[in-house]
Amino acid sequence: MRPLSVGIAGAGLLGRLLAWQLARAGHGVSVFDPAPGPAPGFDGRQAAGFTAAGMLSPLAELDNSSARVAALGWRSIARWREIVAALGAAPQFAERGSLLLAHRSDLGAARRVLDRLATHAPGTPQAEALSAADLARLEPGLQGAAHAWLLPREGQIDAVATLQALHAEAAGVRWHWQRTVLSASAGELAFAQGPPRRFDWVFDVRGTGARPAMPVRGVRGEIVWLHATGHGLTRPVRLLHSRHRVYLVPRPGDVLLVGASEIESEDRSPVSLKSAVELMTAAHSVLPALAEARILRLDVNLRPALPDNEPCTEASEGLVRINGLFRHGWLLAPALVDDALRACRLRAFEDVS
Ligand SMILES: Cc1cc2nc3c(=O)[nH]c(=O)nc-3n(C[C@H](O)[C@H](O)[C@H](O)COP(=O)(O)OP(=O)(O)OC[C@H]3O[C@@H](n4cnc5c(N)ncnc54)[C@H](O)[C@@H]3O)c2cc1C
Repeated sequence: MRPLSVGIAGAGLLGRLLAWQLARAGHGVSVFDPAPGPAPGFDGRQAAGFTAAGMLSPLAELDNSSARVAALGWRSIARWREIVAALGAAPQFAERGSLLLAHRSDLGAARRVLDRLATHAPGTPQAEALSAADLARLEPGLQGAAHAWLLPREGQIDAVATLQALHAEAAGVRWHWQRTVLSASAGELAFAQGPPRRFDWVFDVRGTGARPAMPVRGVRGEIVWLHATGHGLTRPVRLLHSRHRVYLVPRPGDVLLVGASEIESEDRSPVSLKSAVELMTAAHSVLPALAEARILRLDVNLRPALPDNEPCTEASEGLVRINGLFRHGWLLAPALVDDALRACRLRAFEDVS
């Protein structure tokens, strides 16, 4: 295939993954984004990909998403394994499974969730009940939860390090920062300033910035970054909670992310006291070592969601739009990108490596 010119609107999760793959396949790639530069931003205005906890949870997400999302998720975990292996920076990526915990009073709610997670797809892992001894062997730091289940083969990825590596290792890509794309059409990008640019292919992956081309809305999510020396947690943990889907996700360097609220609002203002207190209280109730943790950051961002909360790819000659990754962008991005590149007959990186 002759090298093609590709214009990408958005340098978030999808934009960086597309740019890295298309550059490896030999295409000429230009990316446009209003952000001041490639570094992570935590002011609530940059890519949601930076804020994400990076849980890769096809099983747990069945609580409020479809079997299609789960199937894309299992494919994506296998794909992240290959992508991370190809990245020189080797960001943290693990497939140690995750844990679901419930306090004694929440057993009824846990049973309802477990019923929703029970899938009948052949070869798909199922939640496994753990005894107190099992749990102590897997994660000795966890205490206080009466009930626990292992969600086998679920994964996690360091979102910030991966976005940085995809940018740094996308050889030959031309990054255009502080460039707002006003519209994306077949073979053309138009900008807030300057003349439009022509390409063989255009990818519109602007997340919540893609309106009115797509009926996307933002769903507010708040997350807490903690430094907890010696917390010892080695895999993501979810805790049943009456108001939030609370999770604890270990990152390298004794960092622990505690998330996340899910609020139908496009408010990007700082994290509320109520959300911060509820998330941290819930996390501390199962990980007593957090008592002396230090709060590194309170972060907020908007998840890009379509009306049915499902991901959507629209592909026609010269133009691809991908959006609606909602609360599972890291879980879905590699499979969605692979499918989009195949639909356009553009080579993906495994075809040339
Ligand atoms: C608190 C929180 C926790 C999360 N946790 C997880 C998790 O554990 N696991 C998981 O799988 N997912 C998680 N997510 C979801 C995930 O972050 C998103 O689904 C994902 O980032 C969406 O990717 P995207 O590329 O579509 O959008 P983004 O990553 O938001 O990127 C969009 C890019 O487009 C740019 N842009 C916007 N407007 C324009 C314009 N006009 N012109 C050019 N560029 C533009 C933006 O600056 C941005 O860089 C979480 C999200 C939040 C908020």
